[in-house]
Amino acid sequence: MSREEHAVRRARSGFRSGRSRPLEHRRQQLEALLRFISERRSDIADSARRDLGKSQNGVELFEVVVLEVEIKLAVEKLAEWAAPRPVEKTLLTLSDEIYVQPEPLGVVLIIGAWNYPWAVTLLPLVGAIAAGNAAVVKPSEVSCHSARVMEELLPLYLDQDLYPVVTGGMSETQELLKQRFDHIFFTGGSAVGRVVMEAAARHLTPVTLELGGKSPAYIDKNCNVAVACRRIAWGKFVNCGQTCIAPDYILCEASIQDRVLEELRRSIKDFYTDDPKTCEDYGRIINRRHFNRILALMGGGTVAVGGEADESQCYIAPTVLKDVSGDSDVMKEEIFGPLLPVVSVAGVDEAIRFVNEREKPLVIYVFSNDGKLIRRVKAETSSGSLLANDCLIHFSIPALPFGGVGNSGMGCYRGRHTFDRLSHLRGCLIRRLQMEAVNSLRYPPHTTGKVSWTRRFLLLQVKQGGLRRAALLVAMLSLAAFVTQRFLRRG
Ligand code: NAD
Repeated sequence: MSREEHAVRRARSGFRSGRSRPLEHRRQQLEALLRFISERRSDIADSARRDLGKSQNGVELFEVVVLEVEIKLAVEKLAEWAAPRPVEKTLLTLSDEIYVQPEPLGVVLIIGAWNYPWAVTLLPLVGAIAAGNAAVVKPSEVSCHSARVMEELLPLYLDQDLYPVVTGGMSETQELLKQRFDHIFFTGGSAVGRVVMEAAARHLTPVTLELGGKSPAYIDKNCNVAVACRRIAWGKFVNCGQTCIAPDYILCEASIQDRVLEELRRSIKDFYTDDPKTCEDYGRIINRRHFNRILALMGGGTVAVGGEADESQCYIAPTVLKDVSGDSDVMKEEIFGPLLPVVSVAGVDEAIRFVNEREKPLVIYVFSNDGKLIRRVKAETSSGSLLANDCLIHFSIPALPFGGVGNSGMGCYRGRHTFDRLSHLRGCLIRRLQMEAVNSLRYPPHTTGKVSWTRRFLLLQVKQGGLRRAALLVAMLSLAAFVTQRFLRRG
C-alpha cells in the first residue's frame, strides 16, 4: 500500500470512529492549530524566508495573522455555525420541525499552492476541522521548506490520524487523487485544476477550485491617480507579484498613462527604496523555472520602471511595462510575478469590453471617485470578487466569500463560507403522525378539487411569505377543517 493510500485510510478510519464530530473535539483541535502557529512562529517565518525570501514581518502580516483570525473566528462561532438552522415554515409544515443541519462530509483532500504556503494550505484546514471532517493536507512541493516544516511539526499538535500531512509533487498528488475523498479543496493553477476535477469525477467527489488568472485594475482618469497607483503598487509587488489576487495589469486612458507611470515609480521607490534587491520587504521569485518564465514575458512591452534581474538570486525588480498591446504574450497568461503592464483604452466602455473578451478574473479592481462608474463596472462584468479603490484587502474579511468564477475557480471559502463549503447542508423535516386529515389533499384519488385547493394554499403561502405564526395557525386549522369536511366525510 502506498504512503498516500495509507494516509487516506487512516483519515477515513479516524473519521468513521466519529471522533472528529463532537464540537469539543473540533474546538480542541483548532486551539491546537493556534498553539502550533504561535509556538512555531520562527519555524514558519524561517521556512517562508527560505522558500520565497519573505521577511519575518511579511509572513506575520500576510499569512500568520490571517490564520490566527480565521482560527479564532471558527472557535468563537463554532456552536452557531454547527447548530440547526431553522427555515421558514409553510402552511403544510406548520406543526413540524424544519431546519437545515450542517453535517461533516467525511475526508477532505486539501492541495496547497506555494505562493503563501502557510495561508493557502491551512486556511481550508481550519474550515475542514470546524466542520467536523478529517483532512489529508498536501502542501506544495515547490515551497519545499514550508512543506517540510508542516510535515514534521503539525503532527506534534494535531490528531495524526485525522489530519495527516502528505508531502510530494505531481506523482504523489496523482496517487492521492486515485483515492476516494468526500471533497477536494484545491488551490493552484487552472491547468492542474482540470486534472484534479477529472480525477474527482471518477468518484463523483465535489471540488473547490481556488485558481488564478488575470485580474485587471481600471484607473478612471477622474480619480486620485497618486493614491490609486500607491494601492496598486502595494497589491502588485507584495510577495514579488506572486499573489493570486495581485492586479495583473492596468487599464487606463492614454492621457493619464504618464502620470500613472510616474506615480507607480514613486510608490515603488517609497516602498522598496532605490534598490529593491537589498530591501528586506522585497522577496524573490520562487525558482529558476518561474524566473525564466517571467523574464520572457518582459519583452511584451517597453520597460518604464525597473527591469533589472539577477538569476543567481531569482531576483526580478518591480517592473512596469508601457505601450503593451492587448495581444502580446504578457497579456495571454497570468503573470504571477513583478511585471505590471499598462494597457491604454479609450475609456470605461473599452475597459469593460477588454475584460469581457477574456476569461472571468478572480478580482476586478476599479479606481474612481464616481460611484456610477463603479456600479457600471460591477453590473457589466463578472469576476470572483470586485474591489473598488483598493487592492487585496477583501481577502482579509472572512465575511466575504473568497473564490473565483469560470476560469478563475469554483466555490468560495473563508470563515463561515469554508464551514458551509465543507459541510453537507442537510435538509431535515421532523413530522408527527397526527394531522392526517391534511394529507388527504395529496392522497389518491387526485381529484381536480384537491389540485385546485392545494394550488390555492401553496400560492397563498408564497404571497403571504411573511405571515405571522398565529395567522398561519388559523389558516392551517381552517385548512384541516375544510379538508376533513370536504374530502374525508364524503367517504
Ligand atoms: P500548481 O497548479 O502548479 O500546483 C498546485 C498544487 O498541485 C501543488 O500542490 C502541486 O503539487 C500539485 N500539482 C502540480 N501538478 C500536478 C499534476 N499534474 N497533477 C496533480 N497535482 C499536481 O499551482 P502553483 O504553481 O502551486 O500555484 C500558482 C497558481 O495558484 C497561480 O495560478 C495562482 O493564481 C493560484 N493561486 C490561487 C489562489 C486562490 O486562492 N485562488 C491562491 C494561491 C495561488
